[in-house]
Amino acid sequence: MGEVCFICNKHKGSIPTTGEPIFEDDYVYVGHIDNNSKPNYLGHIMIDLKRHIPTLAEMIPEEAKSLGVMMARLSKALKDVEKAEHVYALVSGNSVPHLHMHIVPRYPSTPEQYWGPILAFAVYESPNARMDPNLEVIELCKRIKLYFEDNPYE
Ligand SMILES: [Zn+2]
Repeated sequence: MGEVCFICNKHKGSIPTTGEPIFEDDYVYVGHIDNNSKPNYLGHIMIDLKRHIPTLAEMIPEEAKSLGVMMARLSKALKDVEKAEHVYALVSGNSVPHLHMHIVPRYPSTPEQYWGPILAFAVYESPNARMDPNLEVIELCKRIKLYFEDNPYE
């Protein structure tokens, strides 16, 4: 199963992805979403479980703790560093049976009809969406990594 799983392959480094890894420990892997060479919505970050399990239900306590802490840290980083006014979190699992959580910032002045996260990330369509090619994604990843270094979680 792991050999044909996109997320497992990404963790092994055998698939090129946008930006650069933001964080990794024994339980989770954190990186910017990759939009198949199309512009990326800046700050749409994925928290993947390292282990190949399908849903939140299969997590062991250590994994749940690591995922929960990372949700909190990332949300704070997106607010403090990228000036998000709100952060959505979503587990879908419709396409890949390997647990991953979408963390999607909503930036100030997003008209209410584009608020998400339902309907495939409506914020993407907002007139003020920060859609950028890879270079800016790398910069964003670096900013968040630096923020994590400067703001230990305790
Ligand atoms: Zn997998």
